[in-house]
Amino acid sequence: MITAYLTHPHCVLHHMGPEHPESPERLEAIRARLSLSGLLQQTMQGDAKEADDEALARVHPLRHLKALEKCVPDEGIVTLDSDTMMNPESLKAARVAAGAVIRGVDQVYKRQADNVFCAVRPPGHHAEAADAMGFCFYNNVAVGAAHARAKYGARRIAILDFDVHQCNGTIDIFKNDPDVLVCTSFQYPFYPWRYLRSEWQNVVNTPLEAGTNSAAFRSAIERQWLPALHAFKPDLVMLSAGFDAHREDPMGDLCLEDEDFYWVTHLAMEIAALYADNRVVSVLEGGYNLTSLASSSEAHLKALLGLPFTDTP
Ligand SMILES: [Zn+2]
Repeated sequence: MITAYLTHPHCVLHHMGPEHPESPERLEAIRARLSLSGLLQQTMQGDAKEADDEALARVHPLRHLKALEKCVPDEGIVTLDSDTMMNPESLKAARVAAGAVIRGVDQVYKRQADNVFCAVRPPGHHAEAADAMGFCFYNNVAVGAAHARAKYGARRIAILDFDVHQCNGTIDIFKNDPDVLVCTSFQYPFYPWRYLRSEWQNVVNTPLEAGTNSAAFRSAIERQWLPALHAFKPDLVMLSAGFDAHREDPMGDLCLEDEDFYWVTHLAMEIAALYADNRVVSVLEGGYNLTSLASSSEAHLKALLGLPFTDTP
């Protein structure tokens, strides 16, 4: 497997204040761990480019994009909602985060890589078509999916989201779109407090109660996601890879382990091998304990690289 690892130096310039859990240190922790374990060196590393207005406007109304631009401060930090802030660099970081997914889609369709991990921030899956929220400005995975359709004629795209939080933004953008299947596992009841009970035909909601462990998580995914994926036969598999469902994460109360992220990544790759010529494009969402974020990302990358999971020291 050729796995691309995409990021951009600008992703660490966005910050929302010293106490904010969605911090630049998250990416530094991932890079340090992957570099130390030698995994990073096994990937094809590359930098993202900024997504342009045309790419963003496939999923966000231009009016909303312009309104967001107007919020960018010249200095300091402005608050958009109770947990989403902007500094002068935030939107450029958001553009390269979305741009990474676009480049990842390009790489799998041009056969430069089998699969891709976009280690970027800000995350994207809470960003609705016309609402930035939950640490998210642009919906990175949705921008990438729309690019895959526009540029490569992707006909059926599966977006699998295993973040502890449900992907209200991705659902908002693709609800009622029969050519995008959204499978989302999440702690319930929990943030984002919207779309949680939505009954869209193309959305598989997998709510999990606090305390859910590996076995219950895997069984729910096998029962609910696999039949939907085999029926749908995606020609591109995209992952909203949040690692805040980890047992050690301070944000949620699910009890997943590193190996569960390996397992679910491998499951996505099996679907991609059957129907999508191996194409998997993954983008980082949440994960706020720096140690478990790094070890979970390592497990995720091991799966993408086709390596066995072994407990790391
Ligand atoms: Zn999350």
